Amino acid sequence: MEVHIVRRIEVADWPTGRASKLALETVADGLARDILLPVIVARGSKPGPVLGLTAALHGNELNGLSVIHRLLQDLDLREMAGSIVAIPVVNVPGYHANKREFSDGIDLNRVFPGKEGGTQSQVFSARFTDRALRCMTHLVDLHTASFGRENSLYVRADLNHPVARAMAEAQQPQILLHNRGVEGTLRDTAMDHGIPAITVEVGNPQRVQDDLVLWSVLGIEQVMHLLGMIPAAPRRSPPWQTVLCGRSYWLYTDRGGFLEIFPQLCDRVKAGDRVAQVRDVYGRVIRDIFTPEAGVIIGRSTNPVNQTGSRVLHLGTEGDPQRAPTAPDE
Ligand SMILES: [Zn+2]
Repeated sequence: MEVHIVRRIEVADWPTGRASKLALETVADGLARDILLPVIVARGSKPGPVLGLTAALHGNELNGLSVIHRLLQDLDLREMAGSIVAIPVVNVPGYHANKREFSDGIDLNRVFPGKEGGTQSQVFSARFTDRALRCMTHLVDLHTASFGRENSLYVRADLNHPVARAMAEAQQPQILLHNRGVEGTLRDTAMDHGIPAITVEVGNPQRVQDDLVLWSVLGIEQVMHLLGMIPAAPRRSPPWQTVLCGRSYWLYTDRGGFLEIFPQLCDRVKAGDRVAQVRDVYGRVIRDIFTPEAGVIIGRSTNPVNQTGSRVLHLGTEGDPQRAPTAPDE
């Protein structure tokens, strides 16, 4: 099927009842060639919202590509109201390099909304905001853990925003984390533009996890139903009860060494539980790490080699939103 090169996503330009494949111009590389972003504009036969789905903003976070592929494969566009604008790879240079960062080594999810006349990542972010984000009415931004870590299937959203909260709840993740959004993130910029947005963290980097992909697809279908895009979503309940966390933070190790972590993802821990230990290279335990309070394990390090100050566990504390430190976006 033909791929159309465009300078901006204009949903109304594309036919209803079918999916059109676009390549969006952004910035040029060192060969003076445009870095083209893959975009699918899938229009239903009735008017309605424009739901944006973005993946691989961090170039090595790949579960989101499969989420988009699987979702679009199953959609009946004749029955759908509104449109899906899916961008399976946002950070094209990072995707080619198997890296989280953009071509200039910068984390794109810290520079939004970017600026013209700025650095590589700033110009790219500005053009993405102008040419892609602006066409959306709602956004689901798909991520995974960073390299060397693993995540549960969890959603970050501003739970004080009613639409974002409803979208996040419809997603039915293992963990639902209140997080207003760090400045510079795509989600924060979307919210600033009046586009309710959630971040879905789908497991681990640089791989595809079929079970988490499936539950994420079913979650997005529930979001589409919530937004009135599809009459009914397949009613399958995930094998977990969503745990609501009002805040979260990372535990770090204050001793470098060889790290072992005891609880698994989604495990609940009590205050004072010994959750990890650090050994020196001869095998002697030199540090036990305890939880300061009860919580649930949202994410954890998978790399045993830890210098002083490394992240150990991402601990969520259960309960509805309260004023709390904001954890960095994965
Ligand atoms: Zn990410």
